[in-house]
Amino acid sequence: MLDRVEDKFDLHPERLIADTAYGTGPLLGWLVDRNIAPHIPVFDKSGRNDGTWTRADFEWDAENNQYICPEGEALKQFRRNYSDPNCGPTGKGVAKYRALKNTCQACPSKPKCCPNMDFRSITREEHEDARQVARDIAKTRQYDISMKLRKKVEMLFAHLKRILGLGRLRLRDPCGANDEFLLAATAQNLRKLAKIFPAPQQTRKA
Ligand code: SF4
Repeated sequence: MLDRVEDKFDLHPERLIADTAYGTGPLLGWLVDRNIAPHIPVFDKSGRNDGTWTRADFEWDAENNQYICPEGEALKQFRRNYSDPNCGPTGKGVAKYRALKNTCQACPSKPKCCPNMDFRSITREEHEDARQVARDIAKTRQYDISMKLRKKVEMLFAHLKRILGLGRLRLRDPCGANDEFLLAATAQNLRKLAKIFPAPQQTRKA
């Protein structure tokens, strides 16, 4: 859709607003690569419901390709240097970062971190950088405005479906669908106009 809009109207959006269904790593990565700011909630399953620390409690150290745990210890992906890089793990896709077993065993925070494991490990997806871009955007005021705009559009679609009965189309083929949506959108706009410009009150003649 973005390609079509760019080809046809020479428009390149600065930001894209969508719901969580679009907040997956690959899509966020695709948008960030194209310099489109994703105003999209991140689809994240890394949360925990047992009260232990989540991935968000660990700091990402991009320079050294490692996470730093709340106790200041490093969680690394590789702990040895491969003389031939092709022999080691590729690190593509989902990467796993692990703390040292001995460090975790002696750690006073282990019950809050990894009570049932010998050591803590954290996964990092290939598009985690893009996901972080989306998370940072979600803290801005512009993002709040974007979410309000998204709800406005979604309300219109809900109205089309529930009130104007467009859950099913009556006319066939894309032209029929186009006609029905055009008429329905016209009805919605007339409804809006009627609210903005109410009919003048008629005064009674004496
Ligand atoms: S258990 Fe290990 S990873 Fe967790 S806080 Fe302690 S040292 Fe860090």
